[in-house]
Amino acid sequence: MFVELRDIVRALDANQIIPFFQPIVEIRTGNLKGFEVLARWQHPEHGPILPRNFISLAESNGLIGSLTQQICQKAFLAAKDLPKHLTLSVNASPIQMSESTLPGQIHSIAGSTSFSLKQLIVEVTETALHHDLSLAKKNAGELREMGCKLAMDDFGTGYSSLRHLQSMAFDELKIDASFIASMTVARDSRKIVAAIVGLAQSLDLITVAEGVETEEQADMLIWLGCEQAQGWRYGRPQGAECMAAMIAAEPIA
Ligand code: C2E
Ligand code: CA
Ligand code: CA
Ligand code: CA
Repeated sequence: MFVELRDIVRALDANQIIPFFQPIVEIRTGNLKGFEVLARWQHPEHGPILPRNFISLAESNGLIGSLTQQICQKAFLAAKDLPKHLTLSVNASPIQMSESTLPGQIHSIAGSTSFSLKQLIVEVTETALHHDLSLAKKNAGELREMGCKLAMDDFGTGYSSLRHLQSMAFDELKIDASFIASMTVARDSRKIVAAIVGLAQSLDLITVAEGVETEEQADMLIWLGCEQAQGWRYGRPQGAECMAAMIAAEPIA
């Protein structure tokens, strides 16, 4: 479907942008660690539409704030009784990381939905740090003061800024799916993943592999020392009812 600006405006007005949830697990044990929130547009005729068809359009037309508002509002509400040992990860648009309104927005949605910010991880991509680094750092500091954790998303794809990893005090590093996809067949990718895991360990960051689809990838990641994974092997992004069912199915810790 070809999406125009007015379609997104209408979708936001009609409350059609909803959160899906994808599980993140500890690779070695398969234990659930949390969920990443991924936006879906529940279109009345075209069904769930993927973010690549609307996120950048929303970003370039000043609508990303409203989109985040809807997503977080619904996600926090769906996750307000999330067991304390589990986390919820949300994606912050690079544009929002360089605006001063993001921490306040998240704070007020958490307040109104009774969601604990201690369980929130805000995922930021490297591109976020190219817009306005000082504002991004200020936002990161405020989010941190509110109790949130920070993850660097898609690590290895942008201008990998090792300095930012340290100066912004990230808690978690998500290894981009492109490396995981080629890791079991290309020695280069395997070496890169090994190097990223080593770097993360020395900086005390948790590593999360993205796009893990096979047992072979999971085994190699365990061998490389990567701690957590997300991908179809463990579950696709699904609606809030599925998240609740997965939590209910977990053995009591
Ligand atoms: P991302 O943050 O890197 O999210 C991971 C993407 O990988 C998701 O695509 C997910 O469905 C997909 N994925 C997960 N496991 C697998 C797997 O095993 N194999 C493969 N091939 N793919 C897998 P999705 O949901 O289409 O989202 C794409 C991107 O859109 C996200 O990439 C994120 O950058 C952005 N996005 C999604 N939701 C939001 C949102 O609420 N706000 C903002 N600002 N951006 C969002
Ligand atoms: Ca992400
Ligand atoms: Ca990612
Ligand atoms: Ca990505």
